[in-house]
Amino acid sequence: MKVIVAKTAGFCWGVRRAMDAVLEASARSNGKLQTLGPLIHNPQALDLIERRGVSIAQSLEAVEDGIVVIRAHGIPIQDLRKLRERQQNGGLEIVNATCPEVAKVHSRIKKFSPRGYFTIILGTRGHAESTAHQSFAEHGSVIISTVEEARALPDEQLEKVLVVAQTTFTLKDFGEICAVLKERAKDIIIENTICQDTWTRQSEAAELAKSVDAVVVVGGKNSSNTKHLAELAHHCGKPVQFVETAQELDVVALQDFDAVGVLAGASTPTWLVDDVVAVLEQGGRGPGRTTQLLRALFASPLLLAIGAAFMTSGVHRLLSLPHNLNYAAVVGTYVMAMFMLNQLLDPAGLRGQGASQKRSLERNRRLIIAVGSICLAVSLGLAALLGWGSVLMVLIASALGLTYKRGFRIGRRTLSLKAIPASKDILVSTALAVLAVAVPLWHYDWAWSPRAWSGVLLVAALVFARTTIHDLHEMQKDQILGKETLPILIGRRATKIVMISLLVCSLVAVMLFSSFDVFRHPGLAVVLLTCSTAYPILHLWLFHERFSVGQRGFRPPMELAFYLLGLLVAV
Ligand code: SF4
Repeated sequence: MKVIVAKTAGFCWGVRRAMDAVLEASARSNGKLQTLGPLIHNPQALDLIERRGVSIAQSLEAVEDGIVVIRAHGIPIQDLRKLRERQQNGGLEIVNATCPEVAKVHSRIKKFSPRGYFTIILGTRGHAESTAHQSFAEHGSVIISTVEEARALPDEQLEKVLVVAQTTFTLKDFGEICAVLKERAKDIIIENTICQDTWTRQSEAAELAKSVDAVVVVGGKNSSNTKHLAELAHHCGKPVQFVETAQELDVVALQDFDAVGVLAGASTPTWLVDDVVAVLEQGGRGPGRTTQLLRALFASPLLLAIGAAFMTSGVHRLLSLPHNLNYAAVVGTYVMAMFMLNQLLDPAGLRGQGASQKRSLERNRRLIIAVGSICLAVSLGLAALLGWGSVLMVLIASALGLTYKRGFRIGRRTLSLKAIPASKDILVSTALAVLAVAVPLWHYDWAWSPRAWSGVLLVAALVFARTTIHDLHEMQKDQILGKETLPILIGRRATKIVMISLLVCSLVAVMLFSSFDVFRHPGLAVVLLTCSTAYPILHLWLFHERFSVGQRGFRPPMELAFYLLGLLVAV
């Protein structure tokens, strides 16, 4: 079964903006933090936000002092005025996350309603957004959603009419209903207020539904735009499964189809989409064997561990350190151990995994712990062959790695390394730079020359780049789970600038202070070195900038940079 994911799958910009607003508020608030009504229409995303201490006030009266966040689809103006009054009296802060696209509809109604226009809202009765629109229509309004309802409107309501739509209304129904209203109304102003994101999502859904044999729609059952996507796919005559999570999938019913399309609503997080895709691929005939093999290999820590070992040998050659494979093996087994053990030590990390990945981790818990522990023992054993200084460094690095996510109670406070912003990015790169370069330099009593420092910087920069690219990819999930990574701390742009500057500085330092005469082919050594530092930037541009979220397929591993540096042993 070929699984094709819509390019538009994942949060729309309005939902992402609302999520950012609530997470930003949760990071700075110590008191009550609440949203007035559900922030978005996705139970799984709301569940994770709730774990960050964000509650839902179901009515205006239930709003307590503290911070209240107004959801993406807005609230009635009368409610907003009451909240503002409370804000002026002190005790309450309003964070208005109403999507600007929704606010545009309010402004159209505010412009025409006072001029005597009756407002017809094409939307769903009872939906929070349409109810908010209605509150601005001082000259009367009605919510309709079908051609029949348009025909049934009394003539007196059609003298002077403004037509707007809920931002997630379908384009097709909008056109058909407006045609009826145009025929009947004497004075009519039609404002197509369906937002650009909905428009693009619906167009892509229709195209995708035509080109596949069946469609899976992922999203909240109470999400209006997700329901519309399911209806659209249904109109194309294709079998449709509308699911909130991968557990609801009926894979047996889909496994004989050659191509299945996956659509997702504007409030569906990408990890739920990824999980559905993973289950579809496992349940159906799945992708080709080669793709499966490549994906399994790239998802395992083996590639990373071998790459780290290879990189260690490469940098030793660059610094003209004596050839000793033990150091590479210590680094490789240490990386493997930390990767295996850490994924089980972080309860928040497990919560944020897709259901199938989480199940697989929990099912294989014993095996993962056993393999991780063996790797750690081997790493310590190999370090013992190099001297007690090496053992001590591996022990310190392991203790930091394994306790990083653990909280320690000191008095009333719980302290953990993880809570220190960007600590993961800094700790991981420092630990590998120390084990791969600093420990061998101490062991051989090498002088701490600029050349030696450039080697440390190079390894730290490559490891830092790998970690931050991963963080950038996981930013949305990490933000919800409360992982204080560098991109969350300083933003995407600043993270990229730091990463690229570090890579460029390390390349310049190595070029200035290294002697390339030690290589049989100095030119090739320069090319490999340049490629290893340029690769993370190219990877970032190719797979995180140009392609949209939800697009799957083959991605070369980020660890390739380590291998390029490791190739220095052969030139
Ligand atoms: S669907 Fe459109 S209007 Fe609604 S939150 Fe997203 S961008 Fe804003």
